[in-house]
Amino acid sequence: MNDPLNSFRLDGKVAIITGASSGIGAQTVKLFSHLGADVVAAARREERLIDLSNQYPNVMPVKCDVGNEEDCKNLVETTFNRYKKIDILVNNAGISDPVQALEEDLEQFKRVIQIDLISCFHLAQLCALRMKEQESGGAIVNVASIHGFVGSSPNNQPGYTAAKGGLVNLTRELALEWARHGIRVNAIAPGYISTELTDEMIAGESGRTWIERNTPMRRPGEVEELDGAMLLLASEAGSYITGETITIDGGWLAR
Ligand code: NDP
Repeated sequence: MNDPLNSFRLDGKVAIITGASSGIGAQTVKLFSHLGADVVAAARREERLIDLSNQYPNVMPVKCDVGNEEDCKNLVETTFNRYKKIDILVNNAGISDPVQALEEDLEQFKRVIQIDLISCFHLAQLCALRMKEQESGGAIVNVASIHGFVGSSPNNQPGYTAAKGGLVNLTRELALEWARHGIRVNAIAPGYISTELTDEMIAGESGRTWIERNTPMRRPGEVEELDGAMLLLASEAGSYITGETITIDGGWLAR
């Protein structure tokens, strides 16, 4: 029997990771690089990407605002021109809008939908156009959220919950459309994870207590705790999984 762990390796794979300058994205860059992939690390804070590329092997930084269509096209074309293929896309870049719905400015709502949903579709489409020409197809992993399944109030985020809910169902739709091209489309839905996005909330007593009370495991997660699901969906180990969203939430959605 071949070593079943081999199917989790990413040697020879080319992966684009958005939102790579911090948190879950930076962790995924380290993970994929460690497992042998060529990683294209994309975000706006280029200096952080350059730091990552200096610390980990086979990481190429590409400055990209996913809200800018030309930047998205440039990211995919730069990757393809360099490596002549794209095997994995991780749609991870994301922002939140902590505000009550009655007070949300429509432009802010649109901005969150643009970054957290529309850019994911655009990048998936651009990558799929390349992946469908490859015999080996491709794998797309969208970073959704538990708030793609349930609302987040009293941690109000109307645009965020709308975008993540859309991303969960977009994952199913793209999986159905692209299965015949050998492209798998899946998502992870993390619960509350310690990153720059949540640091302030977790550092504050009321935020942390709220997370602990609502999480059966009674704590926020760490970025490393997403590695297993991320890798399963991105690698050959997940070769028969598509249209799925895996929750990694300390039991939040099981309540
Ligand atoms: P961070 O704030 O640490 O990371 C967000 C990343 O997104 C940064 O690298 C940032 O890079 C990037 N980003 C934001 N806007 C843009 C943009 N316009 N163009 C390109 N990149 C952008 O938070 P997390 O690591 O926590 O978040 C990553 C993903 O995980 C998000 O989609 C988030 O919704 C999701 N998530 C997080 C949870 C958590 O509890 N932390 C729970 C559930 C889901 P830069 O500013 O350099 O552009």
